[in-house]
Amino acid sequence: MTSEAHDLRYSSTFPPGVIAEIQRAADQGLYEIRGFGAKRKLPSFDDLLFLGASMSRYPLEGYREKCATNVSIGTRFAKQPIELKIPITFAGMSFGALGTHAKESLGRAATELGTTTTTGDGGMTDEERRASKTLVYQVLPSRYGLNPDDLRRCDAIEVVVGQGAKPGGGGMLLGQKINARVAGMRDLPEGIDQRSACRHPDWTGPDDLEIKIQELREITDWQKPIYIKIGATRVRYDVMLCVKAGADAIVLDGMQGGTAATQDVFIEHVGIPTLPAVRMAVEALLELGMHRKVQLIVSGGIRTGADAAKALALGADAVSIGVAALIALGCNKPVYVEDYHKLGTVPGACHHCHTGRCPVGVTTQIPELEARLHPEQGAKWLRNYVSTMVLELQTIARACGKSHVHNLEPQDMVALTVEAAAMARVPLAGTGWIPGA
Ligand code: SF4
Repeated sequence: MTSEAHDLRYSSTFPPGVIAEIQRAADQGLYEIRGFGAKRKLPSFDDLLFLGASMSRYPLEGYREKCATNVSIGTRFAKQPIELKIPITFAGMSFGALGTHAKESLGRAATELGTTTTTGDGGMTDEERRASKTLVYQVLPSRYGLNPDDLRRCDAIEVVVGQGAKPGGGGMLLGQKINARVAGMRDLPEGIDQRSACRHPDWTGPDDLEIKIQELREITDWQKPIYIKIGATRVRYDVMLCVKAGADAIVLDGMQGGTAATQDVFIEHVGIPTLPAVRMAVEALLELGMHRKVQLIVSGGIRTGADAAKALALGADAVSIGVAALIALGCNKPVYVEDYHKLGTVPGACHHCHTGRCPVGVTTQIPELEARLHPEQGAKWLRNYVSTMVLELQTIARACGKSHVHNLEPQDMVALTVEAAAMARVPLAGTGWIPGA
């Protein structure tokens, strides 16, 4: 090594980004709060590949042979399960974190696609209810905006225990996003930072939750499916306890899931990736004899039809998208570039949802910014994007010889890395070896 190269070596332990963060913390004495999701490299569905049909399996002909995509959610106890045309739903995102136009876009698109969208912390807006044929209503630890009338107005209830970006933590909404309407719905003062509780106030474990779920069923006359949403951590036990508590469906959110605002250290260091989480959840359901009886909806970093296909092949019943849906709505699009610069970022690197100054009008309550996203246009983008995902999913399923996307199975896949093989329990490509099996 030349002495010049020697002198310019960066430390692996203290690379420039770490140095900058230590010095930012030294200046400000505060942790960093931000939106979006984990930015570190994590094992993902990219580490899996499908084995298309060849001699030992027979592919389906795309023009003549159907590949169905429908799925029923809530078949365990609900009198009216949700019937989805496609196994892709929109994840819970709050009004407050998102503006009304974004929420309306999601509702319109979900209706056109034959799927569901989901409320979030802060309650249900009339625009969202009107736009969404089938709406999932979240019951969160904060209870902000929780309205018994809305429990009856919704089509399914999702009890949120945790979220992949911050399992064990509550949400945040900084004061700059709390305008009069958001504050009114949450019974909070305008312009003041708001933290959501990290656990429900009226139950401390699955036995209590079982009672709460019974209450919700009675309020809604046993009509509506009840989901439980968990952030991916101790997945095996958590899934088993969700089943015990009486869930019709489980929403499992891996650590690649997004958030409108939380501590960066939380986003990057708490939880487990979606890839191992799906396999652990499916194994737990199989062990209880409840696979396909309690439906599993997987979220956290789902981006393409290939990601959806891999989650389904591992045993999920459906996937849910949040950040990817916002990207389809224009998040991080290279327009209004000067406004990204004002936030100190550039298109492609933005994670500034917490500021309320979203350059593309998705995560803002400022009328001039929100006007940049038109609900009709937003719905069209979402419809195009999700339809593309479904076509990709069907393409893969047909290539594997499946007449329904739920017939995809782990045996259709191999892994590119030893880690992914161990996490997904599929063989390392070119071998029959499943580490740990
Ligand atoms: S573009 Fe908007 S939605 Fe996307 S990360 Fe930035 S602030 Fe958030």
